[in-house]
Order: sequence, then C-alpha cells, then structure tokens
Amino acid sequence: MDFGRDALFLDFDGTLVELCDRPDAVQVSERLIETLHALSERLDGRLALVSGRAIEVLDGFGMIGLAAAGSHGSEWRLANGERKYLPRPAGLDVAQQQFAVFADTADGLLFEDKPLGAALHYRRAPGMRDAAHDLARQLADDHKLHLQHGHDMVELRVPGVDKGTAICELLKLRPFAGFRPIFLGDDVTDEDGFEAVEASGGKAILVGEPRDTHASYRLSGVSAVNEWLAQSLQSQAPEGAARKTGGMQ
Ligand SMILES: [Mg+2]
Repeated sequence: MDFGRDALFLDFDGTLVELCDRPDAVQVSERLIETLHALSERLDGRLALVSGRAIEVLDGFGMIGLAAAGSHGSEWRLANGERKYLPRPAGLDVAQQQFAVFADTADGLLFEDKPLGAALHYRRAPGMRDAAHDLARQLADDHKLHLQHGHDMVELRVPGVDKGTAICELLKLRPFAGFRPIFLGDDVTDEDGFEAVEASGGKAILVGEPRDTHASYRLSGVSAVNEWLAQSLQSQAPEGAARKTGGMQ
C-alpha cells in the first residue's frame, strides 16, 4: 500500500472478521479496531468500510469515526461525520413482515431487520434455501426491490445501488477524490466493487479461495487480511502478501 497515493475500501464480514452463524455474533478484536483507525489516520481519512450492513450496526462493532458505505451503497458517511442515505422504499415494510413470518416456519432460519433492507439467513437451515429464494424473488418482483444473494442468505434492498456505485460515489468526494482505490472483499456482492475499482485504475483483492472474479489479486482469508493490514501499517512494503490471480477468468 502506498500511503501517499491509495484509498482503502474494505468489506467487513468474511474480509475483516470471520463469518458467523448469527450476524450479530461476529468477533471484532480490539487489535483490528485499533489497526483500522490507525490506517485511516495514516491515509488522511481515505479508508472506508463498504458493507451490506447498516452503518449504525458497523458503529456498534467499534467503527465510529471511520468512513463507511453501508446497506450495499444505500448510505455513506465520511470520517468527518458528513452523511447521506437514500429513502427507504415503501415495499420494504411488507417484505420485512413476510420474511419475519417465514423465518418462524423452521428452526435455524434467521430474519435480519435492516434500516434499508431485509435479509433471510439460512446457514443453519440449508434445506430451506430454495423456499427462501422463491419467497425473496416473489417479493422483489411485487415491490420493485433489488434481490441480492450472499453467503447462505438472501436480501431485499434499495434498487439501483451496489458496492460499485458506493465506491464510485465516495471517490467523487474529499478526501477520496483523486486517489487510487484498493478494495478487499470476499463475497459475490463485492464483484461490483471489484469491477468499479479495476475500471478506475485501482486494485481489487479477492479474499478467500480462487474463483471466477473481477479481482486481480487475492488474499487467502480473514487472517491474511488482518496480517496484511497490520504489516502495511508498520511498513511501506508494496502490496504485502497479495498474490496476482491472473485477472478475470
Ligand atoms: Mg463479505
């Protein structure tokens, strides 16, 4: 990482912290929180979390004071506290209610209420996957919501935005404007961000096993990411341990 040239965009779940059965049970170490704040300072505020989670939820994990794009690009906040969020679609209330009813029909299903979205997690009820997808697809059609697939979950949210639009939006603003974006993410929802970053001359880093991706670099997992961030903070070593993946396949 080049502290004079780069802007750092980081997915949260599966990138900075390990995925958990319950989204509220993820473990965030003090060391990670300290590292992120120190990196943000070193980058003059050019570090932003880019997450499907709401910003207020990220703040609950110790991220207050960092820039963030939350709810898959439906809201953002700069390190100085300036913020913007899109209006909540009317159909989301119905979708949330139906997801909550559905989640009560089987053990292991989990409904997650979000300010600008509604998610169904079936990690602990894999047999309900198809039914969850069917319901989500129907609700998305009926209420003109965006249907988003993630790790063992499906989500309905504000249409017209994604992690790519979120990063592009932040790159228009100070302190990010004019700097080279680096984006780390693990999920299919991060591919929009990878595309946006590579298209603007930046670097996309896939976290996890190799797969078809728009990212040109890869780190093996959450531990490798945490190590890379800590090492970057301590030195100016270019690119750390990220290996080239050979580009899009
Ligand atoms: Mg993730």
